[in-house]
Amino acid sequence: MPYALLFDIDGTLLYARGIGRAAFGKAFLEAYGVAYPDVAGLSFVGATDSNVVRVMAEECGVASTPAREEHFFLRLAQEIDAGLAQNKPHVYPGVPELIERLHRRGDALGIITGNVRATAWSKLRHARLDHAFTFGAYGDDHHNRAEIARLALLRSPVRARALIGDTPLDVQAAHENGLKAVAVATGWVSAAELALAGADLVIDDFSDTERAVSLIDDLALIDT
Ligand SMILES: [Mg+2]
Repeated sequence: MPYALLFDIDGTLLYARGIGRAAFGKAFLEAYGVAYPDVAGLSFVGATDSNVVRVMAEECGVASTPAREEHFFLRLAQEIDAGLAQNKPHVYPGVPELIERLHRRGDALGIITGNVRATAWSKLRHARLDHAFTFGAYGDDHHNRAEIARLALLRSPVRARALIGDTPLDVQAAHENGLKAVAVATGWVSAAELALAGADLVIDDFSDTERAVSLIDDLALIDT
């Protein structure tokens, strides 16, 4: 029976080649009127865009109002979309095949990401993965990843079984919502660390489609 799977984007499906970092700096300057001094030092791993920009504002001593955040997200999405049109995202090995396989057999594929909505779909579109995904929850829905996962579940057309991500925060978000946690070590966190974080399944990468599908199926069918 088809079921839903929730996928994180960065580090799990693709890598945006640092385009986000430069875009954050540019959009911040325009929306907040001050230059953030250390864009290279920003940490995005497992973070949500809302949290990152609030930290940037706090460090610069400026208030992060809803109007500024909206302006920032708008400019961020424009910058990232333009950047990715020039420099396509790096899609991890086996990801297109895995997504195609799950999509064709009728699974509902959803997005759970700290990226704001426009940025999330822009990355998927430039990676040619967008056609397979039908719903999601995003960084402008909430600043907390577990809460974003909860919203994604509410939007899921069928029962979701697992959340697939690349950081301990994805594992936590899965478990807080009663989902199996599948962790893939293509991002910035090692397989050992992901296992230590309590992932129910750790995969080095998705290069072996058959193996990945069968491992995810076995795991997802164990009822909790
Ligand atoms: Mg990630």
